[in-house]
Amino acid sequence: MTLTIPSRLAAPEPGWTISADVIVAGSGIAGLTAALRLRQRVDRVLLVTKTVLSEGSTEWAQGGIAAALDPADSPEEHLRDTLVAGVGVCDVAAVRALVSEGPARVRELVSLGTEFDRGPDGEISLTREGGHHRDRIAHAGGDATGREISRALIAALHAVQDDPGIEVLEHALVVDLLQDADQRVCGVTLHVIGEGQVDGVGAAQARAVVLATGGLGQVWSSTTNPSVATGDGVAAALRAGAVVTDLEFVQFHPTVLWLGEGASGQQPLISEAVRGEGAVLVDTAGVRFMQDVHPMADLAPRDVVARAIVARMALTGSDHVLLDARHLGREFLERRFPSIVARCRELGFDPATEPLPVAPAQHYASGGVETDLLGRSSLEGLYACGEVSCTGVHGANRLASNSLLEGIVFASRIADDITDRLAAGDLPPTTARLREGPPTLIDSTARTAIQRAMTAGAGAVRSAGSLASTVAALAAIAAAADADVAGGDGSPGGVTPGPQSWETSNLLHVGQLLTAVALQREETRGGHVRSDFPDRDDARFRGHIRARRTPDGPVGTTYTPVESAAEDLLAAAHGSTPQEGPR
Ligand SMILES: Cc1cc2nc3c(=O)[nH]c(=O)nc-3n(C[C@H](O)[C@H](O)[C@H](O)COP(=O)(O)OP(=O)(O)OC[C@H]3O[C@@H](n4cnc5c(N)ncnc54)[C@H](O)[C@@H]3O)c2cc1C
Repeated sequence: MTLTIPSRLAAPEPGWTISADVIVAGSGIAGLTAALRLRQRVDRVLLVTKTVLSEGSTEWAQGGIAAALDPADSPEEHLRDTLVAGVGVCDVAAVRALVSEGPARVRELVSLGTEFDRGPDGEISLTREGGHHRDRIAHAGGDATGREISRALIAALHAVQDDPGIEVLEHALVVDLLQDADQRVCGVTLHVIGEGQVDGVGAAQARAVVLATGGLGQVWSSTTNPSVATGDGVAAALRAGAVVTDLEFVQFHPTVLWLGEGASGQQPLISEAVRGEGAVLVDTAGVRFMQDVHPMADLAPRDVVARAIVARMALTGSDHVLLDARHLGREFLERRFPSIVARCRELGFDPATEPLPVAPAQHYASGGVETDLLGRSSLEGLYACGEVSCTGVHGANRLASNSLLEGIVFASRIADDITDRLAAGDLPPTTARLREGPPTLIDSTARTAIQRAMTAGAGAVRSAGSLASTVAALAAIAAAADADVAGGDGSPGGVTPGPQSWETSNLLHVGQLLTAVALQREETRGGHVRSDFPDRDDARFRGHIRARRTPDGPVGTTYTPVESAAEDLLAAAHGSTPQEGPR
């Protein structure tokens, strides 16, 4: 069945217009970095963000940020570890940019005021995480790295907020991208809950747009991602005709606190470190099961643990397993994992006295809006960085703590490229025109059905049958919406345009594309696990599935094999084995 995606979301006509040289959408590590760097070099930067500046996955990042800062370490070693984690489909040039520029970018974060944890010698403390063969993870506040980075970046922004070169709009949701007659992206339609001069839907025009809208975890019923992670950037870029790549590669974290059948949205992460300290997984009958699955038992690679948990839940007919940390003792747990213990207790669980119910939940999107090494998407004028993008850095599986790093490295590259192009007179102002085709809008009441369908059929473990059921369920939701579209103006009958219905529409479009490409990839690789194709199939699938909406609506996909350089480098990484995934 051909997947058809509409060209735009139904929204009121823009009631106001603003303009800037560059619009940055999103205020996580990627968006803030891009905006701060651009502000120093171009005249007018507009930073828009869906809720408040601090809301996003960056704020929640725990473990840290990876970079070869230790003199004993090297970017080349970081590169090799990243390639191994990516299971043969990383873009080597992108990884090289990440690892070679990463240390300088992390030092810039320090200059900006980020306070990383330091050792007695005053140097930044570096720790090791799964998949890294060196200590190269800088962290802050113990397990609160993202909060500290976000604090420092927002403080830097506040320090310049009176500067006429930058305007910040909070509670400003990007609905769709604006394009000129040649498909060049030249702005966004924006819904602002404003107090001042702009309110409601407007048009923000610019010579370039940087998408930094983060992840898409809310596509599933449960995720570690915050509520803003509804895949808006991927969906808007897809509708506009940008190439979206590797969307099937999604990381599911094995141990996320299970809060009951009805629980949905962002769920608390129970760090791998708890198992690292000796906690064990048992099924609901109290039986350990990981020893039979992998030589490393409970510390097996993350995707292996997630898969084993799914299998055990099926075997026992339960929707969760248990993580038993009682033998570690109250005093140790409170000292070693203060945030996790506090959060569990807030929610009525005490790891010191009872096993914690856990189940896998969505954690990270490795794919997204395809970009080149400069952060340029396939659409002129559109850039993407951070989790919304697919730079090729992560391949099929992100290496621990590489995502914060990717955000700063590629946001900086984008700022440099836009600066150069604007200075050279490239990307001149242009006129947006209404995109052809009827708009669509999905009622927010469909949100739960979308999330359930994705969780049931396109979760941690997939098969042709499960994916086909999800495809059918999502198609039925889309068809019902199409039937609702009323009259010549294309306004959706009975559905009120607004943040809820726009987000729900985005969840549907991302879910539809993801299931379509997951069906095509008939193998298991990294974050894409097929029970009916349990092995990796390099002959057919060592490459990327790239999707693009054609102007009439059908989405076409192409398969691009990886270049042989990746293979050579992977071979050079002998002795390395894919280990645990990221925090
Ligand atoms: C619990 C948890 C722990 C993690 N731990 C680590 C770790 O230790 N190390 C690591 O490297 N990575 C970690 N990650 C992943 C990492 O945090 C994210 O990949 C990274 O922060 C993404 O940054 P970003 O700037 O792309 O997006 P985000 O930080 O998610 O920011 C996206 C921004 O876009 C805005 N936005 C979204 N939609 C719209 C719209 N339509 N209009 C306007 N604005 C919009 C959001 O409001 C937000 O401001 C973790 C993630 C989670 C959830």
